[in-house]
Amino acid sequence: MIFYKTDAEIELMRHSCSLVEQAIAEVAKTLQPGATTKQANDIAEQFIRDNKGIPSFLNYRGFPFTACISVNDAVVHGFPNNNILKEGDVVSVDIGVFKNGFHGDSAYTFAIGDVSEEVLKLMKITKESLYKGIEKAVQGNRIGDIAYAIQDYTERQSGYGVVRELVGHGLGRSLHEDPQVPNFGKRGNGAKLKDGMVIAIEPMINLGVKEVFYDEDGWTVRTKDSKPSAHYEHTVCIKRNKPDILSSFIEIETAERANKNLNSSYLN
Ligand code: MG
Ligand code: MG
Repeated sequence: MIFYKTDAEIELMRHSCSLVEQAIAEVAKTLQPGATTKQANDIAEQFIRDNKGIPSFLNYRGFPFTACISVNDAVVHGFPNNNILKEGDVVSVDIGVFKNGFHGDSAYTFAIGDVSEEVLKLMKITKESLYKGIEKAVQGNRIGDIAYAIQDYTERQSGYGVVRELVGHGLGRSLHEDPQVPNFGKRGNGAKLKDGMVIAIEPMINLGVKEVFYDEDGWTVRTKDSKPSAHYEHTVCIKRNKPDILSSFIEIETAERANKNLNSSYLN
């Protein structure tokens, strides 16, 4: 069942999304060789709690952390840990915030220091594919139009692997609501998009093959060929004429550019 949001509810979701943006930006300020993803998790959690939010992912179906932090061949749902980050690591940070009865959900991928051109291109194309999908998130289109736009753009440019097993989702009072929002599919298929629907669009794109597997921790999704993966996510409200992106990368990109330990050369 799809729950359509009122204008007032959409503003509450925008606020939750803003806390997600700021939490990821706080993390971005601290990512560097020698830091750990557990430290990043704790920074995000402290920020969320200081702002009277609740981390959406903590204890969600038993997930034990505030942030999903997925390094290199980890695609999504990585456990923060005490491993030392190093030059060349690709770090995806996915955070949800629950406040005033509503969730916000967003993710961003960072590169630490000197990474290969092919990794920078993967990040750029994955982020662009997110916006290709968002362009289709308007009333009258269908979920399949978003899915097709992401898949088509990604595969046409690069032949990257578009992950099939994990998808975007509706969200609101629950972190995961109907409909599912795949990153692959056919135009004209799936649920019809209507004013007031709020969905998380989140392409997960692998440098190599699309196949993934679950790590023995039961959560972390990894690429089958051990090549890196990128993940960007926005929470988007469907409107009549143009999509309303409730989350934002502005503060995150500002922090990314300002942190000399991060490689922001792929940004336009
Ligand atoms: Mg997310
Ligand atoms: Mg999500």
